[in-house]
Amino acid sequence: MRFWGVRGSIACPGEQYQRYGGNTSCLEVRCGTEMLIFDAGTGLRKLGESLATNGGIVANLFLTHTHFDHINGLPFFPPMFHKKNRMRLWAGHLLPELTLHEALGQFMAAPLFPVPLKIFAANVSFHDFTAGEAIEPHPSVKIRTAPLNHPNKATGYRVEFNGRSICYITDTEHVVGRPDESILGLIDRADMVIYDCTYTDEEFPRYKSWGHSTWQEGARLCETAGAGRLVIFHHDPGHDDDFMDRVAEQAQAERPGTIVAREGMVLTL
Ligand SMILES: [Zn+2]
Ligand SMILES: [Zn+2]
Repeated sequence: MRFWGVRGSIACPGEQYQRYGGNTSCLEVRCGTEMLIFDAGTGLRKLGESLATNGGIVANLFLTHTHFDHINGLPFFPPMFHKKNRMRLWAGHLLPELTLHEALGQFMAAPLFPVPLKIFAANVSFHDFTAGEAIEPHPSVKIRTAPLNHPNKATGYRVEFNGRSICYITDTEHVVGRPDESILGLIDRADMVIYDCTYTDEEFPRYKSWGHSTWQEGARLCETAGAGRLVIFHHDPGHDDDFMDRVAEQAQAERPGTIVAREGMVLTL
């Protein structure tokens, strides 16, 4: 897997973000020949630049939800503009009020955006499901999902391939002292858990109901669920490189093996 964007809320270019990166959520996961993409934040643009330009790309793109920081890379993803590419877009937080096609259609619409969804030349399909359902994008890849605690809702994912498992869980808010049972079920004994660690436990009380969690809660959930490595993700734009270095140090001391996601980082299981 490769992290193309690790930031939450809004992209934050600048010299104080050089080491961890300023692009918003986007994760590329390769399962054999299958390409899975999680979230379409600003990091998606760079992922697109790394891919073939002559067509033939087949990818499944799973959205946790449709807040701007998770979708605004989509119109800047070059593979969407080649008719020989096939893109399947998935979301589990919108039904029954809205479909993904409708939600993205409202995002790419005047006067907020100059071109509509139909500008995409690729063969694009939209797949709505309800968080909690299982998905099988390919016979060799099993995906389980769970609803997260976030304003306007969000979906957590668990990918299983070849006996290995990773979980992608952002954005979600925890309740202090009461671990989220549906997340515990989803991450049960997973090899790796990428988790919404926007805040620290010290900061958390100031951001109640903002829909995010802490790296300490991520560590507690992984411990309880018997999960493997925790990957700290969805960094607050207010947290510069020096701040993230301190988080990395503290998290490593608290739960050895924990790492802070950096833009461009590649992890293999
Ligand atoms: Zn977010
Ligand atoms: Zn959000």
